[in-house]
Amino acid sequence: MKILIAVPALNEENNVTVFYQAVQKEAARIHDIELHIIFIDDGSTDNTLAEIKQLCLTDSKIHYISFSRNFGKEAAIYAGLEYASEENYDYVIISDIDLQDPPSLIPEMIAEIITGEYDCIAARRVTRKGEPVIRSFFARQFYSVIRKLCEIDIADGARDFRIMTIQMARSLLSLKEKNRFSKGLFVWIGYKTKYLEYENIKRKSGETKWSFWKLCTYAIDGIIAFTTVPLYIAAICGILFCFISFLIIIYIIIKTLVFGDPVAGWPSTICIILMLGGIQLFSIGILGLYLSKTYIETKQRPLFIIREKK
Ligand code: UDP
Ligand code: MG
Repeated sequence: MKILIAVPALNEENNVTVFYQAVQKEAARIHDIELHIIFIDDGSTDNTLAEIKQLCLTDSKIHYISFSRNFGKEAAIYAGLEYASEENYDYVIISDIDLQDPPSLIPEMIAEIITGEYDCIAARRVTRKGEPVIRSFFARQFYSVIRKLCEIDIADGARDFRIMTIQMARSLLSLKEKNRFSKGLFVWIGYKTKYLEYENIKRKSGETKWSFWKLCTYAIDGIIAFTTVPLYIAAICGILFCFISFLIIIYIIIKTLVFGDPVAGWPSTICIILMLGGIQLFSIGILGLYLSKTYIETKQRPLFIIREKK
């Protein structure tokens, strides 16, 4: 039986060897299984690729793909799954390289999945200890919003860290969209998933690649990829305000007929104009977001470009 661990890496020169050693330690506990690793170098500008190549010289079960530039973690995950599918592995594991996805869970994941009861064994953080409080807060809010809006039940604290059957990996690959929100896609394709729980672990070395701004756009892209509810909200706002303005028009006509027309109400007029202007811009913004995503999808560009692989 052959299992592949797909590991996206962007500027992780200090983590490559540490990760490899941690996995080797676990591999010693697993029997009758060929465990391979593929590193997907996502356009690193430090020595990550050199470190990976160094490891390749010592171990034939290590492979790598190096992108021509940074294409993002989602693209790297896709490349890893594609490799597993082409090379006919039986199962694929997706894992971060910074040891925040504890390799110590791997033997348990493998033991669970080979029973055949589940198609995917995923890891779920039960705490966000060690993460900035504001970041945790917004992350929680985001997941509760996306769960309500999109009707996809992303488990709280679910990570990309998981093992899945090659069949499930191929289903993921069959979703060709460019705006990929993996956490949602995992749920969307269905299959049976079991969650293993663990406590949050601090990154081994280096820094997180996710700035607050990047997380915000990730959140918006995630919502847009999975639901058109924001468009409905914009449309409903429009209808609601038409209705309200209709009532106000009737009120003003009656008031003018009964009491005459003393000129007043300039401030309220300005308030109404500003508010409607705001709502219009908001709605156009939502429309624009969907349009821009559609535009990007129609270009049919590849998700990533490979510069080297082994
Ligand atoms: N990563 C990547 N491309 C990117 C950003 C991140 O391949 O554009 C990799 C990174 O090297 C790591 C994993 O994705 O292996 C998770 O990144 P990070 O630890 O920065 O995210 P966090 O754990 O803070 O959510
Ligand atoms: Mg991390």
